[in-house]
Amino acid sequence: MKKHNFYAGPSILSEYTIKNTAAAVENFAGTGLSLLEVSHRGKEFVAVNDEARALVKELLDVPDTHEVVFLSGGASMQFCMVPYNMLNRKAAYLDTGTWASKAIKEARLFGEVEVVASSKDKNYSYIPKNYTISPDAEYFHITTNNTIFGTEIHAIPQVHIPLVADMSSDIFARPIDVSQYGIIYAGAQKNLAPAGVTIIIVRKDALGKVERPIPSMLDYRIHIDNDSMFNTPPVLPIYSALQTLKWYREQGGIAVMQQKNIGKAAVLYDEIDRNRLFRGTAAVEDRSLMNVCFVMNDEYRELENTFGEYASAQGIVGIKGHRSVGGFRASIYNAMPRSSVEVLVEAMKSFEKKN
Ligand SMILES: *Cc1c(COP(=O)(O)O)cnc(C)c1O
Repeated sequence: MKKHNFYAGPSILSEYTIKNTAAAVENFAGTGLSLLEVSHRGKEFVAVNDEARALVKELLDVPDTHEVVFLSGGASMQFCMVPYNMLNRKAAYLDTGTWASKAIKEARLFGEVEVVASSKDKNYSYIPKNYTISPDAEYFHITTNNTIFGTEIHAIPQVHIPLVADMSSDIFARPIDVSQYGIIYAGAQKNLAPAGVTIIIVRKDALGKVERPIPSMLDYRIHIDNDSMFNTPPVLPIYSALQTLKWYREQGGIAVMQQKNIGKAAVLYDEIDRNRLFRGTAAVEDRSLMNVCFVMNDEYRELENTFGEYASAQGIVGIKGHRSVGGFRASIYNAMPRSSVEVLVEAMKSFEKKN
């Protein structure tokens, strides 16, 4: 039976990505060797690394002021690497969920952290809006999409200090104006590639302003100066990332992905709003295009397990909600076909008829 993969991360990848990665694991670029057993400094892999960085720049229209590097350690490593490189005295953070609060915890090791607003009072079900940022904050950190709670920042705040964004679960989901950002970072395993590589887009002149010494591996400048090959990079995730980026280009680019994402999300949210059994958990104006969180209405709550089993009998995988929200979460990343979203919607409709 065809599986419809709604996992939150690691998550669905395009067939193009899976097929080409599998082929390169067997025979990489006609070398007669596996991608896994050749030098990362050989011309074949250097070409992969360079092309992937160039494609990130092309697809997101990255200006020359910024550089793209691929690092290890996940988005979680960036929670400390950002303040290591950027925070002298004080930084401002917006607390919109579990990942944001983890970033805040790490930043506190390096200086004063001003949490300008938090939606923790309502279990992170909305994006705080009217807040002020101290003029002496050195950067402002946001999490553009809250993977666990299903909220997304739809109006990027306009600030006069470098904006730093964790885009782990919505990078490449919509066009962005990179010039607004000091640093963008994103773990690959939501919308790009297998876990193991993190994309960093950094404004070069935002670096070099902290007084502390920085260990080489944690210094963005070292990675930039070494063309993102300071040490052995995660070759397989980078190869896969290149395949996904090529697939995005083939689909028509990021604006086209955005239109598809808007369409897919509308199909699912419309059904959640129409169906008497279900309700969404995120504030309507802040609903995520990538992670759709919903629960059963109180009077049907005891049917949640039954619906989970009913859905899985139809090949629907990975819709169990995160424990901090409960219910269901359908992650509908770029690689998720609309037809799979429609299978989920059909299951919700037919389950409603039965109950
Ligand atoms: C998944 C996720 C993370 C954590 O990523 P790791 O690569 O596991 O460190 C951080 N932020 C957001 C928004 C995420 O979705």
